Amino acid sequence: MTQRANAAPQVVVVGSINMDMVSHSRRLPGPGETLMGEAFVMAPGGKGANQAVAAARLGAPVAFVSRVGTRQHGAELLAALAEEGIATSGVVADPAALPGVAVIMVASEGGENSIVYVPGSNAQLSAADVQTSAALLQSAKVVVAQLEVPVPAITQAFELARATGVTTILNAAPALPVGDALLALSNWLIVNETEAGQLAGMASGSVDEAAAAALALLQRGPQQVLVTLGAQGVLLCGAAGVQHLPARVVKAVDTVGAGDTFVGGLAAGLAEGMSATDAVRLGQAAAAIAVSRSGVQSAMPRRAEITL
Ligand code: ADP
Repeated sequence: MTQRANAAPQVVVVGSINMDMVSHSRRLPGPGETLMGEAFVMAPGGKGANQAVAAARLGAPVAFVSRVGTRQHGAELLAALAEEGIATSGVVADPAALPGVAVIMVASEGGENSIVYVPGSNAQLSAADVQTSAALLQSAKVVVAQLEVPVPAITQAFELARATGVTTILNAAPALPVGDALLALSNWLIVNETEAGQLAGMASGSVDEAAAAALALLQRGPQQVLVTLGAQGVLLCGAAGVQHLPARVVKAVDTVGAGDTFVGGLAAGLAEGMSATDAVRLGQAAAAIAVSRSGVQSAMPRRAEITL
């Protein structure tokens, strides 16, 4: 455990955590078929936990607010957070529940994958669970959430945070409908190109279309809307207009988790007091390193690896 665990948390992530169970086989099996696999890996994941790890690796003191079933792999998931120096006092451990699990099959020829995600205890995170972390949320610099936990829990977290002037970041992923009440509680809205289009109900296939979708989303309450465009970088959209910040040029090996690394990096930068564009650059620098390595949490860089 690092000394960060003792510092007052500046970034509080409210979100999901699960175990990724990944098998590699030459091709994906068809219905009813059994294949011999080549490798199997188990690794902690979930958008919430991923973003918490990304921010912690970059040096932010981080706390996690979540509900974790401690049957089966739950204890391992909690231990992994502690290893990263992430405070877990806001994690409600539920001995009766199963933690979330993602069963992932990857074809070694072609890289295609199939995923079954079972949310487990993530689906049970309640507003009352979040309320028990009120002091943590209200003394943070930045509170971050994604849509893999129920909206009432996120709303509760953002209401508490905003009441004391804490900056809120909603990463509206996966693509699910979000009401204007939650958007109005979000200082920052972060979506990828696809999510931007679905949330705005508009086309978002080109940079111009994504910019139009971002401007439409800005009208629904957030002060800043960020649309991530993969290798094309991000659109930063606020009162001053739309700014396109290109991504760093790297050889991408595995882009899974790019968005989570970016969001964690942005949160760490804002918590440090960086300007919006500098915090975006920190997120982009971290995500560029992460996509150049395989794995999700295992690919996330430490602060010493970042050049801005
Ligand atoms: P998501 O994983 O949510 O779909 P993106 O693919 O848009 O998110 O990636 C998030 C950010 O990660 C991008 O804005 C960019 O800064 C960085 N990134 C993603 N893919 C690449 C890449 N191939 N090269 C460099 N940076 C990348």
